Amino acid sequence: MSKIILTGDRPTGKLHIGHYVGSIKRRVELQNSGEYDETFIMIADAQALTDNADTPEKVRQNIVEVALDYLSCGLDPKISTLFIQSQIPELCELSFYYMNLVTVSRLQRNPTVKSEIQMRNFEASIPVGFFTYPISQAADITAFKATTVPVGEDQLPMLEQTKEIVRRFNMIYDEVLVEPDVLLSENKACLRLPGTDGKAKMSKSLNNCIYLSDTEDDVKKKIMNMFTDPNHIRVDDPGQVEGNPVFIYLDAFAKPEHFAEYFPDYQNLSEVKEHYSRGGLGDVKIKRFLNNVLQEELAPIRARRKEYEKDIPAVYEILRKGSEKAEAVAAQTLSEVKRAMRINYFEDMDYINEQSKKFTNK
Ligand code: ATP
Ligand code: MG
Repeated sequence: MSKIILTGDRPTGKLHIGHYVGSIKRRVELQNSGEYDETFIMIADAQALTDNADTPEKVRQNIVEVALDYLSCGLDPKISTLFIQSQIPELCELSFYYMNLVTVSRLQRNPTVKSEIQMRNFEASIPVGFFTYPISQAADITAFKATTVPVGEDQLPMLEQTKEIVRRFNMIYDEVLVEPDVLLSENKACLRLPGTDGKAKMSKSLNNCIYLSDTEDDVKKKIMNMFTDPNHIRVDDPGQVEGNPVFIYLDAFAKPEHFAEYFPDYQNLSEVKEHYSRGGLGDVKIKRFLNNVLQEELAPIRARRKEYEKDIPAVYEILRKGSEKAEAVAAQTLSEVKRAMRINYFEDMDYINEQSKKFTNK
């Protein structure tokens, strides 16, 4: 069986370092591993509109931002298909049929959607499209017969929902759809990177992000202002490592070689953590170290972005070509789906002839 990747991001803002460690870095590694037959990367504008219906310009403007982020992180349009969700109408058609396979109460149980509804104050009036976006996500994944979906932890309930739809569809109609596997980061810190404000998730909608496109100065300022342990007031006080976002970022980004280069008093992160817990290590020193580590990771991304920014029409052309290719694949799956559901009336000549006999023999 082919090995196919599908994943994507909502164009609700520029991409941040949470997206990077949670998903994008892995995508680039998988893309370059040569082990996958196809890699589809989707800019989920239709999904973004489910909770941004009144700010379409925001979604429109962020398409190119997200595309630039992808390219600058090393997603290569020669290997990966980068496309825009709304340009593939087959995805809407699939969603419409999958809606019959899911109950309202099942959708209400989705913990990610539940917390997103709360975050957006949608409790009193949830847009129907937003409520059903896990179904549209199942359409996105299955349209490409994806076997592997590299995402952050918050996407686990979506993958569960997709698998249920696949099983139900295949059981009722025919074995057409493929059950995808989720691919989470092995590094725990990367599963859900917290915000610079210490909130549980760095999120475009929460304004607590370090963006991949931030300048060197912006990154430094954001790090120096980061939330740490509020009880670590004097340097000598014992500090709390657990849940401290500065340490979680170090868990996510620091590599063994960084210590000799930027923090030679320590051999590894355990030693730094141990000193901080004991007391006597100030926040500023650790933040400076984190800044060096992050700048090293972000510098090449920033440089590549500058290059791509010089030719924006070429970036749109990459997306246009990718969308064309993606549509052809989705159309093929849709036609298999319609055949399995027996709504392929005009291509089923045997059926038409059978009907014809039924009426002529009356
Ligand atoms: P929004 O607030 O608009 O939902 P978002 O920041 O949650 O934006 P998405 O586009 O919904 O971003 O998510 C894209 C991908 O990035 C998903 O795979 C998601 O799991 C992952 N991701 C998002 N935020 C984080 C994070 N803080 N840590 C790790 N992965 C993340
Ligand atoms: Mg999200």
